[in-house]
Amino acid sequence: MNWISKIKQFGENIKKNIKKKFPTAEEQEASKWRAQNCCNSGPVLEEELKENFYQCKNCNDTYPVTPEQRFSWMFLNNQYEILDHPIINNPETHEWEDASGKYTDKLKKTRKKTGLNSALVAAYGSLTENLKAVVVASDWRYFGSSISPDEGECLLYACEKSISTNSPLIIFVQGGGMRVNFPLTLSLNQMPRSIIGINEVKQKNLPVINVVDKIAAGGISASYCSTSDFLIFEGVKSRIMFAGPRVSANASNTTPPPNFLEASWALKHGIGDFLIEHRKDTKDTLVKLLNILLKIDTSVNSVSLDETSEPNLTAKEAS
Ligand SMILES: [Zn+2]
Repeated sequence: MNWISKIKQFGENIKKNIKKKFPTAEEQEASKWRAQNCCNSGPVLEEELKENFYQCKNCNDTYPVTPEQRFSWMFLNNQYEILDHPIINNPETHEWEDASGKYTDKLKKTRKKTGLNSALVAAYGSLTENLKAVVVASDWRYFGSSISPDEGECLLYACEKSISTNSPLIIFVQGGGMRVNFPLTLSLNQMPRSIIGINEVKQKNLPVINVVDKIAAGGISASYCSTSDFLIFEGVKSRIMFAGPRVSANASNTTPPPNFLEASWALKHGIGDFLIEHRKDTKDTLVKLLNILLKIDTSVNSVSLDETSEPNLTAKEAS
């Protein structure tokens, strides 16, 4: 073995050791361990998180969940109808490419991995025997739940279903903003489109509730996230922001507090309405709120649940 081969072999050994020390994204996903070092208490077992609605028992930090998981917690007997919407994001028509590869390849891979055509999924069904709702949830694995025209369509179809069924609209808001790998202008167009859709629902006197699920940032926080009747945080570490703490710190030349942009900080500064500290309480809290908003008489309905499968009352009808 000459000296060049020796150096090459040495380099390969280093690469192998680095790989061994830092598992790939695929290896991490296949592992039973989910959080790498939550609240400095080391990795957390997937099973442990699952038992607690994917929320850390020590620090109450929330972890992303799939729309399927979210709907199973929200809908009665796990019965719901997924709302179909047009898919505009055709992988064959995009040429965007950056240092990490072609957008088309990433899109195909993401769709295969998640089994979804959009980062947002909307569903309609019963939350309780006498309360139906449209619920929108996100999949973080799908480009960090960012918004492209597909997600915009999903939001508009959710608004339309809410109006056609006289049902409230609940959006679990998550994501870093508008998707830049897609032709950005088309992604940015979803900001006014989503605001118009939500305003249409509100004009029908139907409640719109946004729940900040982990993080709402960029164009998401600047559009549909900020136009609901109620803005609620799920988990004390959920954050709302346009730009992140580092950008804010640089712009203001100050050091932000440790809880900067998190739920406790946001509420103290007039952003949002209240906090749901534990995910296990999310559904009950939303149902109680909607019962009040829609003036549903739960004392009557609780006498015989089987006989009260009436369609939803809107605030207008109930008053
Ligand atoms: Zn933790």
